[in-house]
Parts: sequence; structure tokens; C-alpha cells
Amino acid sequence: MRLRRTQKVGQMKQKVFVTRNIPGHGIELLKKHFVVKVAPQNGPITRPNLLKGAKWADAVLSLLTDKIDADFLSQNKHLKIVANYAVGYDNIDLKSATLCHIPITNTPGVLTESVAEHAVALMMALGKRVVEADSFLRAGKYKAWNPSLLLGTEFDGKTCGVIGTGRIGALFVKFAKALNMHIVYTDVNRVPELEKEYGAKFTTLDSLLKQSDFVSVHVPLLPSTRHLINAKTLKLMKKTAFLINTSRGPVVDEKALYQALKRKQIAGAGLDVFEFEPKPVAGLTKLSTVVLTPHIASATVEARNEMSILAAQNIIAALNGKTPPSLVNKDLVK
Ligand code: NAD
Repeated sequence: MRLRRTQKVGQMKQKVFVTRNIPGHGIELLKKHFVVKVAPQNGPITRPNLLKGAKWADAVLSLLTDKIDADFLSQNKHLKIVANYAVGYDNIDLKSATLCHIPITNTPGVLTESVAEHAVALMMALGKRVVEADSFLRAGKYKAWNPSLLLGTEFDGKTCGVIGTGRIGALFVKFAKALNMHIVYTDVNRVPELEKEYGAKFTTLDSLLKQSDFVSVHVPLLPSTRHLINAKTLKLMKKTAFLINTSRGPVVDEKALYQALKRKQIAGAGLDVFEFEPKPVAGLTKLSTVVLTPHIASATVEARNEMSILAAQNIIAALNGKTPPSLVNKDLVK
């Protein structure tokens, strides 16, 4: 199978459809080469507008809120690339894309620091009760220094369990080690560098959950990782442990997590992603033991700029008949 050839000298400029305005220099870069249309709405694009834009275009720059499913792909077999503005691509039916010979790309690597730092921010906010303390003070409840007020927990000497030690998980290991935490990790692959450099101990998911004081999840959403954290696995965690999820919402059974938090089966959770995004499950926002952010782990000026540039580079390569730098369905170039 070959990537499809593209524009010939003297032909009309090729067309790129961006499904929503994005920050960073990527769009400017695309405009130097192609006719670029950015969908004007301020929110996720509607299905009819997504289909209309794709029909017009040679390439689509998509967001994780866009469903690039079998129906979309079979209606748009003319597309020379769908460049996702995210490292995760669970919004795309990869198998159908390959069957339709449409290259799919993502933005790996450029948001690693941003996301790993965000996981640390959630861990810090939980351990130091930052959000609770802020609300307490703003509500005018701080009347006098109190030795028992809002007692938190230290990280030094605690055990940090990391589920999924790819790019983001591995950097999170480095950060946790800098806090003098003991590291245990689980992944489908062992990572000897993490063992050598940070003394990380490879273990099973069950054993990780049983011994960790903080558990941070960094796996992609796959059939095998959907509800990896569920009622049964939550029961393995310590009563004093915290769960952090910056991966994808459905990796955690959120209703089961809510029940575990409500029953104080675990101490708290820091979530950037939700099973039924954009809404957290009923009751979750009422709990003082959770810290919630609206899927912003990669939302730094630096990461979002790099993501837009990488998405643009993927499109420029594909529309010039070259292999995009972050092609996901690599079968297309075999
Ligand atoms: P990566 O591919 O480098 O790492 C994923 C790791 O998970 C790999 O090491 C893989 O072997 C491991 N893994 C897969 N299945 C597993 C399983 N069943 N059990 C244990 N480990 C398993 O990806 P990355 O760049 O580190 O990104 C990880 C995920 O983070 C992305 O897929 C995405 O969903 C999520 N993410 C979220 C945000 C956000 O804004 N919240 C931003 C970027 C990425």
C-alpha cells in the first residue's frame, strides 16, 4: 500500500479544513502552502458541518471532539490525511481509516511535559489540599491559625504507582522520583531505563494498586484499557490513596470511582478527563476530596503551539506525497 500522490505543478492549491480554531502557529504554516478554511464556530463542530468541510478538503485537521468514524471515513475516501490535534486518537476509527487508505496522524512528544506536569499539579493539589483550602479561605472561614486545619500528606518516602510508562508516564516517574517517592509501575512492556535510572519497580496492576499512596494513569484508551480502573480494582487501593487520571476518561469507571470516593474507600482523586465528557458523573463535583480540571493537561502555550505545528507538518508532508512524521496507521507505507 502506498500513500497517495498529491498536487502536481501548476494545479490549484490543495485545501485544508480545520474543524475549529486552534492556538499556535500551525495554521499560519498551512496557509503558506494551501487554501485553509477554519470552521468558525466556538465549540465542537456539528456533524453536518464536519462532513461538509471534509467533502470540500484534501486534508482535515481534526480535534479529539470530532468523531472520525467509519461513516465519516467511507464518505471521504478522497482525503489524503486526517491530522488529529492530540496524541490520543481514540476519536478515530483507525481500522476504517486504513481500509479507506486515509493516513491518520497524531501529535506525540510535544505535549509530554505539559501533561506530566499537570499530573504532578493534580497530585500536589490533592496532597496539599490546595483547592479545598482556597475555597475555605474565599468563603471567609479562616478565622485563626489552627494546628489541625486541613492536614495534608507528604510525598517524600511515599509510593507512587504509574500505570502506563510511555512518554508521559515515564516523565511523571522522573518528577515523582524528584519528590523522593518510591516508584512502582506497570505497562505492557518493561522499561529497563526507568528501573535503572529511578529504581522503578515493575509489577502487576493489582500489586501496584495495593501498595501505592498515589496512582497516576497514563495509558491510551483502547479496548484493553477501558475501565482498567473499576469497582474491583478500586477495592485494592489503600484507604489513604489518591487516584490521578490525565489519560482518557473511560479508562476509569467513573460511577464506580464516585462510589469509592463517597464511601471513603480511597482518599481522593484528581481528574482531568471524564468518562462522559464534558460532564463529570452526578455527585462528583460535590465531593471535597476531588480536584477536577476540564481536560486541560496539554493546555500550555508551548504544547498547544507545538501541537499545531506538528499537525501542520503532518499535513504538509501528506499533501506532498511524503510520509507524515507522526503517521499512526503505518500499514499504509508498508
Ligand atoms: P505512549 O504511547 O507514549 O504511552 C502509553 C503507554 O501505555 C505505553 O507505554 C503502552 O505500552 C502503555 N499501555 C498500553 N496499554 C496498557 C495496558 N493495558 N496496561 C498498562 N500499560 C499500557 O503515550 P503518551 O504520549 O504517554 O500518552 C498517553 C495517553 O495520555 C494518550 O494516549 C492520551 O490518551 C493521554 N493524553 C491526555 C491528555 C490530556 O489532555 N489529558 C493529553 C495528552 C495525552
